[in-house]
Amino acid sequence: MRCLIKDLKENKASEIRGMVSKVRDTKYMVFVMIKDRSGFIQVSIDKNEQKDLLDKALSITTGSIVSFTGVMKLSEYVRQGGKEFIPEKIEIISLAETIPLEENANADTKQDYRWLDLRTPKNEFLFNIQSEFVKYMREYLYNNDFTEIHTPKLLGAASESGSSVFEVKYFDTKAYLAQSPQFYKQMAIASGIERVFEVAPAFRAENSNTNRHCTEFTSFDLEFAYIDSYKDVMKLEQELLTYALKNIKEEYGDIIKERYGIDVVVPTKDFPVIDLNDLLSELNKRYGYVIPEYDIGDMNAETEKLAYKFAMEEYNSEFIFVTGFSKEKRPFYHMRKDNIPEGFDLIWRGMEITSGSQREHRYDVLSAQAKEKGLGKDVEFYMQFFKYGCPPHGGFAIGVDRITMLLLGLDHIREAQFLFRGPNRLNP
Ligand code: ATP
Repeated sequence: MRCLIKDLKENKASEIRGMVSKVRDTKYMVFVMIKDRSGFIQVSIDKNEQKDLLDKALSITTGSIVSFTGVMKLSEYVRQGGKEFIPEKIEIISLAETIPLEENANADTKQDYRWLDLRTPKNEFLFNIQSEFVKYMREYLYNNDFTEIHTPKLLGAASESGSSVFEVKYFDTKAYLAQSPQFYKQMAIASGIERVFEVAPAFRAENSNTNRHCTEFTSFDLEFAYIDSYKDVMKLEQELLTYALKNIKEEYGDIIKERYGIDVVVPTKDFPVIDLNDLLSELNKRYGYVIPEYDIGDMNAETEKLAYKFAMEEYNSEFIFVTGFSKEKRPFYHMRKDNIPEGFDLIWRGMEITSGSQREHRYDVLSAQAKEKGLGKDVEFYMQFFKYGCPPHGGFAIGVDRITMLLLGLDHIREAQFLFRGPNRLNP
């Protein structure tokens, strides 16, 4: 029976199974480093005393899957805990060919061999960290009465903005891949589920090659009812992220520092909030920044970067909420007050991680706002959700890949995704 490396007891006969990370052939000994999900151990084979195992030991290659039966011994000569494993029996379960991925391979080759790239020490805990981050965000929501839902990703209409939607053949008609669960989250609210969330893929047919965009990403989306203002939405997001960061720091802070050289910073005070116009005048005053005409009323990558710089300088905060976007730049379903959308973006470490708002739940107003944006037939089904009673509500979406990238200080979002999907990347 397999024994995990962490559970080995001194001198107790056991079988360990795992992946070989290194083989070292020395004058008197062969050392095989083996790793399972609980840790790693050095397996030591004495060339003189274990002649019967030698051929097999020397045929083991890096990456092979092996089983060793024997005993664990404590030895003062062994580093990292002083444990070594002395085998009596070796079985090679799956022999690996020479690994074709060099350490300094370019980004494209790393993607070609992503499963090998994920074996490297830097990536070893990547998905444990991501998975735990999402777990804590989920946990926070469960603790606050949220219900997870699963909405369709195949849609009959091109939803919010037709231009960035993938069209797929659907028998003898067309379907579209969901770019967000927005409409269905709101349908859930109209169904009487007061607090919902979903963690699911979102698809964007944007032909942009930036370090922060992919054509398929994982969106952590939520929506909740009976809010008084979009400020309730910001408050919930601040609490959710603080909760997740606190737990991640406790569990993985040291590993993140060691592997990625970056600190996990747990916010200790409210995230600052600034109106977009005030932010732009601060950026102008401090850094001489002038936003290009076509971005007026919105933020761009440069504004986001400088907003972070400003937040650190002024508030010593990695996060900053920005409000007061122009209605032309925001979706029609954002509630407005005095013609200004009641919504926000959240910037973390120089990048937008969230857009959120109070949603317009009044059918007549929503209808007028949709018309103003020239949206007709495609949103008709959605408009129906607001005809038969719908409470005031709001919500937001966080890009899981983007927060992973920022948490670990990675250069490109493809490094934070299990498998990257971009304009030029559909495989493996
Ligand atoms: P951006 O301005 O950065 O393109 P967006 O305004 O289109 O983002 P939203 O539609 O508001 O983004 O989506 C909410 C969140 O989902 C974003 O804040 C981001 O974290 C994530 N996100 C959006 N588009 C992408 C993408 N193409 N790749 C990765 N993550 C994305």
